Amino acid sequence: MKTIGLIGGMSWESSLEYYRIINEEVKKRLGGFHSAECLMYSFDFQTIEKLQHEGDWDKLTELMVHAARKIERGGADFIVICTNTMHKMADRIQEEVNLPLLHMVDVIAKRIKFLNKKTVGLLGTRFTMEQGFYKDRLRDKYGLQVLIPDEQERQAIHDILYDELCLGEIKKISQEKFRNIIENLTSNGAEGIILGCTEIPLLVDQKDYEITLFDTTTLHAQAAVEYALSTS
Ligand code: GLU
Repeated sequence: MKTIGLIGGMSWESSLEYYRIINEEVKKRLGGFHSAECLMYSFDFQTIEKLQHEGDWDKLTELMVHAARKIERGGADFIVICTNTMHKMADRIQEEVNLPLLHMVDVIAKRIKFLNKKTVGLLGTRFTMEQGFYKDRLRDKYGLQVLIPDEQERQAIHDILYDELCLGEIKKISQEKFRNIIENLTSNGAEGIILGCTEIPLLVDQKDYEITLFDTTTLHAQAAVEYALSTS
C-alpha cells in the first residue's frame, strides 16, 4: 500500500472527513483490521483564511509548497490537497516536489465523464467559482461546460462556507439556500452539481436531491485509496 500524504486543515472539519472516508474505504477493500497508511500536514486555518481574503496568493503558494515538502520528507508516496480552493497552486506544487499529486479536478472530471454528463453546476468558495484554475481545467482538459451561480448566490455560498461550515456550524436555513441555488442551476441546464468545496457535503446530501451531486471530498478520498492500492 502506498502512503497517502494529505495537506489538510482547510478546514479541519473536512480533513476529518477525508481521514474517515480513506480509512473506511481501505477497510471496505481489504477487510480485517486494515486501515490507511497516511500522514497529514494540517494547517492553522486562521493563517490561510486571512491570506486568502487579503489576496496574498504568493504567500499561500509558498506555504503550500513548504507543506508539500514536509509531506515528501515524511515519506509519503503521493500528495492529496484536501481542499478545492487550494488547488489554485496545484501545478506549482507539482513542479516543486518529486511526488505525484492527485489533482481534485481530474478525479471529479473523470467521474462526470463516466456518468456522461456534459454541463455541470459548480458550487464552492468565490475563489473556486470565479477564478479560472478550476473551471478552465474542467473545460479545457475535459470539454465540460461549467455553470456558476449569480453574484448574490455566490456571495451567499461563500459566507455560509467561511462563517458557518468551516467553523463546524450546520444551519437549516443554509441548507434551504443551497437548495434554491441548486434548483436555479438545474433550470439553467446543469445535469449535475459539483460540491466543489470540501465542507459542502457536511450540509448537502445526495439523498435529498434527484440531480447527481459530485461530492468532492468523498470522490477525492476514494480516489486516493484507489491509487494507494494500485500497483502503478
Ligand atoms: N475546504 C474548502 C474548499 O474545498 C474551502 C477552504 C479553503 O479555503 O481551503 O475549497
